[in-house]
Amino acid sequence: MSPSPRTLLTDAARRLADAGVASPRVDAELLLAHVLGRSRAALLTLDGVDDDAAARFGALLDQRAARVPLQHLTGRAPFRHLELAVGPGVFVPRPETEQLVEWALARLAGVAEPVVIDLGSGSGAIALSIAHEHPGARVTAVERDPQAIEWTRHNAALRAAAGDAPVTVLAGDMTDPGLLRDLDGAVDLVVSNPPYVPDGARVPREVADHDPPLALWGGPDGLDVVRGLLRTAARLLPAGGGLGIEHADAQGDSLPALVRGSGDFGDVADHPDLAGRPRFTTAVRR
Ligand code: GLN
Repeated sequence: MSPSPRTLLTDAARRLADAGVASPRVDAELLLAHVLGRSRAALLTLDGVDDDAAARFGALLDQRAARVPLQHLTGRAPFRHLELAVGPGVFVPRPETEQLVEWALARLAGVAEPVVIDLGSGSGAIALSIAHEHPGARVTAVERDPQAIEWTRHNAALRAAAGDAPVTVLAGDMTDPGLLRDLDGAVDLVVSNPPYVPDGARVPREVADHDPPLALWGGPDGLDVVRGLLRTAARLLPAGGGLGIEHADAQGDSLPALVRGSGDFGDVADHPDLAGRPRFTTAVRR
């Protein structure tokens, strides 16, 4: 028999802390819970851990210490009310994006069957959450990365099987002038967490080594993809249609300025995330 669960977790957390992992104790608990197929809370009542489970736990700790994202090791990422399947090839959804969805849902409240487009959907976190929380919404998720879209499709299939309204998954580039032509002027809301990291910016090792480059890099000022996204959104949205775009901490002025400067949108506003950092810009098509 291995050491007690307490000792196992204390040692594990110390090891992850030494490796520079930001939340060592939580990560250790979540990995042990994953190995045992239990909830994190259920670890409290654990009597012992058998050698096989302890060995599997040790192997996952090695990978986490080498900065493989926790969500790749568990294969799951919590996002609002959903658990998305994630792994190599797809951007791990972040909690700060949950607020953009909150805004989108508030905007759609009272619209019975809104047409919603999520540009650059990745795991499908935004699109699938909107479909889950607004049962009338007709959501299309667009993704250009051939590897990432496998995850979009997989998660969409899982959610449809769980009873949510089906989300349409479309292979396409949000900057393509031919994208979704049949929906020109027919969309209620365009929402996106586009690639916005300026080329050459420093990102954590987990991110640089494991999130797909196509989900991150946005050209010299990080806004290259957004420029194309604004043209697409202006075409898809009729007057009064809504737009919500996530951005980097440092883009709280530049992105709203870009949206205003396009001349196509009014009511431009910027919103902070829960940590108080500028996080997403919203606007209404003129
Ligand atoms: N917020 C992301 C990060 O943590 C960047 C995401 C993006 O470019 N959409 O790196």
